Amino acid sequence: MSGNVCEHCTGLCCAYIALPLETPETAEDFDDVRWYLLHKNVFVFVEDDDWYIGFRTPCGHLAGDGRCGIYRTRPRICRQYGADQCDYHSGDYNWQQHFASPEHLDEYLRQYPPAGGRRLRHRGRKPRARALRPTPPPQVDRHGMRLPPLP
Ligand code: SF4
Ligand code: SF4
Repeated sequence: MSGNVCEHCTGLCCAYIALPLETPETAEDFDDVRWYLLHKNVFVFVEDDDWYIGFRTPCGHLAGDGRCGIYRTRPRICRQYGADQCDYHSGDYNWQQHFASPEHLDEYLRQYPPAGGRRLRHRGRKPRARALRPTPPPQVDRHGMRLPPLP
């Protein structure tokens, strides 16, 4: 990949955050997920059997031209995120499920009804977010510049 890999993108990777969720199993758990989805700009997705909640909210430093307004001091998570795994180029989301509304979740639950009120097993909260996936180190940043190795 050469040149400015972000040239035709509006900064998709800077327009949301995603955090891991405890895997919902009971009707009560799914009712909580439904509550999340009742909020604007919230989505829930499943990837590699892990559940995540996402918030469509652009970074306050995303400039109008799609560039980073604090490029030199941008957080580590941004430095680690490379075009090889980016939202615009990679297309490798591999979402098993993606819920954008309570109706999407209802549809899923009609197909896969939850267990009863009793929690069958507990899975701890996964200490990672989508952007922290153990993917290969990025070769270029969101502006197509080669990145120095992380400390
Ligand atoms: S890294 Fe990818 S998603 Fe992010 S601004 Fe560049 S092209 Fe867009
Ligand atoms: S700090 Fe810069 S690179 Fe990071 S999310 Fe904000 S605009 Fe994007």
